[in-house]
Amino acid sequence: MAVTRRAVTDRRRSWIRGLRGRPVLPRPRLLVCFMGLVLTCDLLSVVLTWWITPARLAEIATFGALVLCAVICVEAMRRLGPPTRLARDLLGAWWLPAILLLPPLYSLLIPVPLFLLLQLRIRRRAVHRRIFEAASIALSGFVSSWVFHGLLAGDAARAVEGPVMVADGTLVAAPGLFYALSCCALFTLLKTAIVAIAVRLSSPETPWRRLLWDRETLVLDSVELCVGLTVAILAGLSVALLLIALPPVVLLQRSLLFQQLQTAARTDSKTGLLNAATWEQEAGVQLARALQARRSVAVLIIDIDHFKQVNDTYGHVFGDQVLLGVANTLTHHLRQSDVLGRFGGEEFVVLLPGADMAEACRVAERLRSRVGRMRLMAGENSVTITISIGVALLRVHGDDVIELVGSADLALYRAKGAGRNRVCLPFTGPWAIPGGTRGGRVASGREG
Ligand code: GH3
Ligand code: MG
Ligand code: MG
Repeated sequence: MAVTRRAVTDRRRSWIRGLRGRPVLPRPRLLVCFMGLVLTCDLLSVVLTWWITPARLAEIATFGALVLCAVICVEAMRRLGPPTRLARDLLGAWWLPAILLLPPLYSLLIPVPLFLLLQLRIRRRAVHRRIFEAASIALSGFVSSWVFHGLLAGDAARAVEGPVMVADGTLVAAPGLFYALSCCALFTLLKTAIVAIAVRLSSPETPWRRLLWDRETLVLDSVELCVGLTVAILAGLSVALLLIALPPVVLLQRSLLFQQLQTAARTDSKTGLLNAATWEQEAGVQLARALQARRSVAVLIIDIDHFKQVNDTYGHVFGDQVLLGVANTLTHHLRQSDVLGRFGGEEFVVLLPGADMAEACRVAERLRSRVGRMRLMAGENSVTITISIGVALLRVHGDDVIELVGSADLALYRAKGAGRNRVCLPFTGPWAIPGGTRGGRVASGREG
């Protein structure tokens, strides 16, 4: 980012002006209103259904058993030590049966003890976020349960033949299973939609598609739905059968957690890229293969120019957004087989399998140009940044990861010395480009 001291001061002033004119968080009032609306709907539903739901001992016992199973699951999660950003759990296995087997009031109540437990025993999060999470699950469950029981009541009135499961003390006709599946899917859809609206209100730049469609989430939602339905069928036959359902659900939950822990240990939490240790490990494997097959490999070290000024001008939170933006752009413009990692701070590292010098410089140049075209909004200011890249080639500049990274770092140092926003090689030689490249042509500039 070509920023003079005066430009920095100007930007800071306009940023502060922007803040005075607009709230710091994007449209927080709308977000607060939406959260309040969800919570109010929840509370109103509790008040209204409390009086019309008869207290039946069997239903209270089923509710208690489901809560107990969920508590055991949460405790099992705690023993394994969940990752800092627990993205996913399988607690739906316990509230889907509550939606299907119990009157709608219980769907509103079941998240209360569980989210309290998650907050106290697993990880403390902002209270308003926890409450909103619980409220969105409660409301989605309530609506789905209402629809399910409405459909069953309609069928019972028409006395359809062929009972397949027990719910609410009533034998359910053959379409019951289809209704159950549909209502579980409705629950997932509502829950996803409520969370998506909240995220969109807090960060309007997030595309709807990313909020509503993710293959991994879809797979996990389907698994949760199947597990929840199975538990519901067992508990519908007899609450005692929850004893059989509990161990496989705990095991599934643990393996899901284990997978998340593994991913968290391999990746950098801010950018989602490989962390430095994992990158080094994967790069080592690729280099050994390339040496054996006598294939070429190149390493790039990428450093954001004047990043400290970005932080100083717009704050560290915006700096983190820049890091994420650069990581996404780099990922988008590399091949699946290229190994990209965050090296630390504002530095990234890439291994390009099969790339010779010309190809490596072409890729580096493309990345430099794409990142330079990014527009990041800090309030009303559109911010652009630039990157410098050092390139090193296997057998020319080094024979292992340490040597290659060292050479690429030297090249990066030259790129900085030559004026930044360019691609450089480690030393003057047949391949060295004086002053590095900019826009595919030889750029003039002081040598570092
Ligand atoms: P140069 O063009 O020479 O690379 O200058 P620079 O300002 O980019 O480099 P310098 O090493 O002076 O500063 C790097 C800055 O990166 C300082 C540090 O606060 C910031 N930084 C490192 N890690 C993070 C992070 O995770 N988030 C944010 N926001 N800033 C970070
Ligand atoms: Mg640096
Ligand atoms: Mg830098």
